[in-house]
This record gives sequence, C-alpha cells and structure tokens, in this order.
Amino acid sequence: MALLEINRDECTGCGLCIDVCPFGSLSLDDEDIAVVDETCTACGACLPECPVEALSLPEKEVEEVDLSGYRGVWFWVEQFRGQASSISWEMAGKGRELADELGTTLTACVLGQDVEHIAQEAICYGADRVFLVDAPTLGVYRTDPYAAILVGLVQKYRPEVFILGASSRGRDLAGSVATKLRTGLTADCTGLTIDPETRLLRQTRPAFGGNIMATIICPHHRPQMATVRHRVFEMPEIVPSRQGQVVREGPVMDEDEIASKVVDFITQEGEVNLADAKVIVSGGRGVGGPEGFAPIRELAEVLGGAMGSSRAAVDAGWIPYAHQVGQTGRTVRPDLYIACGISGAIQHLAGMKTSGCIVAINADPEAPIFQVAHYGIVGDLFEVVPALIEQFRQKLQAGG
Ligand SMILES: Cc1cc2nc3c(=O)[nH]c(=O)nc-3n(C[C@H](O)[C@H](O)[C@H](O)COP(=O)(O)OP(=O)(O)OC[C@H]3O[C@@H](n4cnc5c(N)ncnc54)[C@H](O)[C@@H]3O)c2cc1C
Repeated sequence: MALLEINRDECTGCGLCIDVCPFGSLSLDDEDIAVVDETCTACGACLPECPVEALSLPEKEVEEVDLSGYRGVWFWVEQFRGQASSISWEMAGKGRELADELGTTLTACVLGQDVEHIAQEAICYGADRVFLVDAPTLGVYRTDPYAAILVGLVQKYRPEVFILGASSRGRDLAGSVATKLRTGLTADCTGLTIDPETRLLRQTRPAFGGNIMATIICPHHRPQMATVRHRVFEMPEIVPSRQGQVVREGPVMDEDEIASKVVDFITQEGEVNLADAKVIVSGGRGVGGPEGFAPIRELAEVLGGAMGSSRAAVDAGWIPYAHQVGQTGRTVRPDLYIACGISGAIQHLAGMKTSGCIVAINADPEAPIFQVAHYGIVGDLFEVVPALIEQFRQKLQAGG
C-alpha cells in the first residue's frame, strides 16, 4: 500500500514530484494527476517540491515507550574459538567515547564457551562492566541462543545504546535482537555521535547509493542500536591494568531448544583477509581483464600485502567478490593502499579513504582518485606496476 497521499483536487499535474522521487514511485495517470505506487517508502523527498501542497504523508502514531530508565552504552564482543575479533575492540573504543560523552558506563557482552579471558580483555579495552555468559551451547555462534541472551539482558538492564560490529555474525545478531526488542537499528554506520541536547545517538551512514550521508536517530525506542563495519573506527589502546566488573549471566537455551545445528566447519581455501592487511594493492576496470590482475597480485606479494579490487572488476567476473573494497565490499584501513586503474567512485572511496597512505596509478590525470591520493602516478599501470615491482624487489633484496 502506498504511503503518500495525493490530493487529486489540488494536483496540477506539473510532474515536479516525479522528477525528484528517488524510487520512481510517482507517475501521471490518464487525467494528468500524480499517482503513487507501492514502491513509495514515504521518504518525503517530493513534499517540498509540490508547488500546490497536494502531497502529504499521514502522521504515524508513535507507540509510547518509557525511555527514562534506559542508561548505559553496550557493545557485543564477537569471538571465534575463544579469540575476540578486532572489530569488537573497535566497538569498545567508540563505545567508551559515547559512554564518556553521556556520562554513563560501558558494558561488554561476552558470549561463548570458555571465554572468561575475553571478559578480562574487554575491560582492558575500556569496558566498566562485562556480562559473561559461558556455556557449551554457545561454543559456536548461532542466532537463537545468542539473540535470546542479549534480548533477556537488555530487558533486564535497559541500556540506551547498543552497538555491534557489522560482520556477518554481527549483522545477523543485531537484526534479530532489534526485531525482538521492537527497536530501531541502523546498519553499516560510518559515524556515531551524541546529540548533547537530546542525548540521542546520531547514526550516520551512506544512503541512496552512497550519494548522501544520512544521519538517523531513534527517538522513541530503546536501545538505540547500530552496526559498524570493520576498520571504520580506530582500535583503542589496551590498558592491562584497567579494572572492571565481570557479572556472570544466564540462562542459556538447552541444546534441544535450539533450531539450528552445526554439522561441520569448512575453511574456505585461499581466504582473503583484507581487513587486517597492512598493504593492499587493488585493481579496477583499468586492468582490462582477469589476466590484468597478474601484476597487481605480484606487487601485493612483493610488498607482503593483499590484493583488492573495485566492484567493476568483480561485476565483470575478473576477480571474486571477497576482494572487493568499497561500500558494498570490505572497508579497509591499511597503512598503504595502492589503487591501480581505479577511477575513485564515491562507493569505492567509502571503503578505503581512511587508509594511512593512498597511492593512485591512473592513465587519466582527471580521475577523482587523485583527489584522495597522497601520491599520484599518471600513467599506464602496465608500465608503472612492473617498474614498481622491480624497484621494490631491488630495495628489499638490498635490505632497504
Ligand atoms: C549502490 C552501489 C554500490 C557500489 N559499491 C561499490 C563498492 O563497494 N566498491 C566499488 O569499487 N564500487 C562500487 N560501486 C561502483 C562504483 O560506482 C563504480 O562504478 C566502480 O567503483 C568503478 O570501478 P573502477 O574504478 O574500477 O572502474 P572505472 O570507473 O571504469 O575506472 C577505470 C579507471 O581505470 C583507468 N585506466 C584504464 N586503463 C588504464 C591503464 N592501462 N592504466 C592506468 N589506468 C587505467 C581509467 O582512467 C579509469 O579511471 C557501487 C555502485 C553502487 C551504485
């Protein structure tokens, strides 16, 4: 059902609303009056464009929730086989900042089997308190038991903010928890700040294909939930002497209550770890085909780094998706990012622009990638990259 209301008596059929609708939901009918279809998302972009105020969105009734008892910032500590993922500590660092700004405490949620050491680590990374739920049924991540525990904890302790890493598991868990709690969730945030007047969490993320940055708030429900991609926030410093409280929590679902069963783990061959790479050499459409990645791979190997790519190269089938950097690929923050034959579209930049040093190699001196690059080389990558390989090899052999 369409959400936009159109006053047919007022509409003049000028078509201005059609031009601005980002979803193509509006058109003119046989009588030259605007009509809307079910793809309308009630974004409101058309309202200010209508010169005769023929468009309106019905006021939504807001379910009243008492927000006064919600305090504290929480983050989920993702772990695999007893080792915490670095994305969790990035959440700890940002969570600490938010908690300090709100004048409240930071709580970590550590779930798993034999994970007490992670609770201690969470304190060293900034948590004041850790909820530790340690049980054999939590050894392997599964949505049902993990979500049930977090929902129970939120209902019991009422945090105002809850952030999770936007890894595969984090996205899965956050969606499930937010749905059960009937609260809002902003996925893939690139910025989290506090509005000092309202105490609301301002959750910023790219929208409309990365063309605008939208700041989203959740004023009527708690907790305010957000996921953030790997490498968007900096790792905090670990302070081994930090003190905090570990609270053991439960209950945990019995094995026979959990719908999903883990049959086996199969490790993917040649897994690409872009998130942790210190050096990334990426190729784009400019490499011209799958074979064009050979010098890119070689340069990455010489520098002991990983190979990335733009989406254009992935879409063309030249390289697997696991290598894609950008808004719909991986977010990376290596010390050195070398972009070869990549134009620098906003969606690509969204995934790499915070890299320590960006080197762009492109035949077109006007390519937008040069605007973010610290060093730019205008030239044919098939001449420049082999020359770099040669130079780096010589330097490395000479111990330089
Ligand atoms: C919703 C959405 C999400 C997206 N997500 C992503 C994403 O996650 N990651 C991503 O990368 N893109 C993403 N895109 C696509 C993005 O908009 C661009 O289309 C894409 O990044 C372009 O890739 P490219 O730079 O390799 O190709 P092009 O833009 O075609 O650029 C190729 C470049 O190679 C240069 N070149 C050609 N030959 C040579 C040569 N021999 N030597 C040197 N330079 C050469 C050219 O001058 C040109 O600048 C997304 C788009 C949308 C709409």
